[in-house]
Amino acid sequence: MSRHMRKKLGKDDKAGDMKGTLGRIWVYLSKVKGLLLLVILMVIISSAASLLGPFLVGRAIDEYIVTNETDGIIRLLAGLIIVYLLHSVSVWYQNYWMIGVAQDTVYRLRKDLFHRLQLLAIPFFDKRKHGELMSRITNDIDNVSNTLNSSFIQIISSVLTLAGTVAVMLWLSPLLTLITLTIVPLMVYGMKWITKRTGPLFKQYQQNIGEMNGYIEETISGHSVIKTFSREDTAIEEFEAKNKKLRKAAYWADTYSGFIPKLMNLLNNLSFAVIAGIGGILALNDMITIGVIVIFAEYARQFTRPLNELANQYNTLLSAIAGAERVFQIIDEEEEAKDEGDAKEIDSVSGRIEFQNVSFSYGENDLTLKEVAFCINPGDTVALVGPTGAGKTTITNLLSRFYELNKGRILIDGQDINTITRKSLRREMGFVLQDSFLFQGTIMDNIRYGRLSATDGEVIEAAGLANAHSFIRKMPQGYHTVLRQDGSGISQGQKQLLSIARAILSDPSILILDEATSSIDTITELKIQDALKTLMKDRTSVVVAHRLNTIRQADQILVLDQGEIIEKGTHEELLRQKGFYHALYHSQLKESS
Ligand code: ADP
Repeated sequence: MSRHMRKKLGKDDKAGDMKGTLGRIWVYLSKVKGLLLLVILMVIISSAASLLGPFLVGRAIDEYIVTNETDGIIRLLAGLIIVYLLHSVSVWYQNYWMIGVAQDTVYRLRKDLFHRLQLLAIPFFDKRKHGELMSRITNDIDNVSNTLNSSFIQIISSVLTLAGTVAVMLWLSPLLTLITLTIVPLMVYGMKWITKRTGPLFKQYQQNIGEMNGYIEETISGHSVIKTFSREDTAIEEFEAKNKKLRKAAYWADTYSGFIPKLMNLLNNLSFAVIAGIGGILALNDMITIGVIVIFAEYARQFTRPLNELANQYNTLLSAIAGAERVFQIIDEEEEAKDEGDAKEIDSVSGRIEFQNVSFSYGENDLTLKEVAFCINPGDTVALVGPTGAGKTTITNLLSRFYELNKGRILIDGQDINTITRKSLRREMGFVLQDSFLFQGTIMDNIRYGRLSATDGEVIEAAGLANAHSFIRKMPQGYHTVLRQDGSGISQGQKQLLSIARAILSDPSILILDEATSSIDTITELKIQDALKTLMKDRTSVVVAHRLNTIRQADQILVLDQGEIIEKGTHEELLRQKGFYHALYHSQLKESS
């Protein structure tokens, strides 16, 4: 499907357009057309067999039982066995092949979704709860998979059986058919009544599950925060409210949908009584045979079952479509803007950075940065200081082009970063952040994340330069010690050393450093300072500084307040100015003394 079309359908999706979503599911399904055709062929065979069975029984009654012909009965019995065997085999194969269709489709859906998630720009993730996204990926896709697995075949076979049954019934006795069919409006009305109520309930149910999973994820990842602030009771209360909401939605969705089989059963028995009664009168008047009554009684049951199934599947289908809709919404999200057509790769830059009157806001808010202008010479260290929320981190975010500017330009080695491919721009940058990202894996692999092609020797060398080698060696399995994803096995300071090692390995031209705020023991602190010195040597470094005594050596200090640079200079110059920096410095000195 063309990108244009995909976008158009995506828009419709947001309005809850079922046709659009079904169309898109079809695009996925059509990739396994061959297998799907086989499934449909098997469904046709099994539906025909289920029509033929009762028909043969009826014939047996009229032609052989009434006339006492044993040979004929045996022949028909053999025929019946073959028909039912055929039915079983075709049902088995249709399920077998359908699993292939469903799994293949869902595999591609998951792939597209994950792919898109990787391409999305940072602002997308700012706006959403991580747990809710996780729920979409797992729950909604599971839903689509289950429905494809179970509902698809049932829907086709129900439609075929319905059509076939009515056709044969009409051929045998139009009058009795008419009488049997009077039950249909009753059924349709009953089903409509129920599904009108279950549809929105199932949608709500899915939404509530998403919310609840989001909340669980949040509380698990923020467990220590909840404990620290003694918010366990609030968390339990909030969870309770969500859990109750979910119970209510699930309760009513299940209750209403549970009515369907009961109602169908009742109508089924009614129609059996009607057919037996009226059929009997017709037979007495020689208008039909007893065999036909038997066929009709059996067909009437066969006839209500697919209707029943269609109604049941309708609900599952609705919830799967709602799930698919949400998945497609993500797939349709605009990915991080493409690089300009003529964007260039950069390679080994010298590291000169220039901000020219940069203004920026996150979304609709007021400007977070206002006319920020500064210049960093290659190899220099620049420190960003200022109160929390002043915009220090924002400057580093813009430098890595995570967000687009509202106004102004950022130049690296004289080139506007908008004319450089994002990939090569980010390759030139290294990050040592407060909250360094560690993943479940060995220390070796965690450091190697900086440069995947690095050999074990290079990793160990980088760890040595980062003063991390000695602590790693003391770990139970050395470099092969497996770290947990939240990095809870090692200390904050050790985490920093690992991320410095990672940055050394990646050897960037520009370094972005978010100094740790948490207190680290003096020895580790010295090790970190020393390792940073190695790392920052000959690289342009932008340091988000929290403690002013660590940045005295910086070539330039930019003092930010409310998104504006209010002072600029070296430590000594700024102290002499006796301005904001002077006050900040002395207040921090007082705090630490
Ligand atoms: P600093 O690093 O100096 O503490 P930041 O650059 O992180 O400050 O934040 C500057 C301002 O931008 C703050 O008011 C903050 O609330 C806001 N901000 C930061 N990140 C985002 C974001 N992802 N979305 C919206 N607003 C943000």
